Amino acid sequence: MSSIDTLAELLAKLPGIGPRQARRIVYYLLTQNYHTLERIADAIKDLKKETKKCVECGRFFPIHSHANTECTICVNPNRDTSKLMLVEKDVDVEAFEKSGVYDGKYFVLGGTVTLFEKNPKDRLALLPLKKYLEKHGKDLSEFIFALSATPSGEETAAYVFDDLKEVLESLSVSISKLGRGLSTGSELEYADSDTIKNAFERRQ
Ligand SMILES: [Zn+2]
Repeated sequence: MSSIDTLAELLAKLPGIGPRQARRIVYYLLTQNYHTLERIADAIKDLKKETKKCVECGRFFPIHSHANTECTICVNPNRDTSKLMLVEKDVDVEAFEKSGVYDGKYFVLGGTVTLFEKNPKDRLALLPLKKYLEKHGKDLSEFIFALSATPSGEETAAYVFDDLKEVLESLSVSISKLGRGLSTGSELEYADSDTIKNAFERRQ
């Protein structure tokens, strides 16, 4: 296989990139000088070396010191520990942080699942979420489902709720989900700050 085909095949596995786009990127890269390509390659290589997954919330964060196991949000004493927001992925945390509407904690589920999937549990951080609730549940007064307003987001919310039912019922916590500000079929990461604010304020 040529290096063009190899890279195109690898890029086509990325989220939101199809085979045609992958080839477009490859041919674009070929027009760049060697130094630029080296910087891109190095940045990709450094990604894992310089990033950790937070042991509390599952978010990726840049390593400042190797002793750190928790991200800047989890160690921030000014965050409201009575609220926990469940999001699908890291970019959703970024979208909420950018909107400035939320001051509680997050938990990153790691994606969404569909009803027909064989082992949906394998792709979701349900066990770490249970551990989080067992550890911090007593401080919690609100648990917010902030999954996308898509069929898979809805199915995932139902699945998570079912799986956590016992733990949630043992805590005195109110459960809410984002309101209608977020239009049906939309993913959080593509929503602007006003839409996110709206959806958060209209949570029910
Ligand atoms: Zn964290």
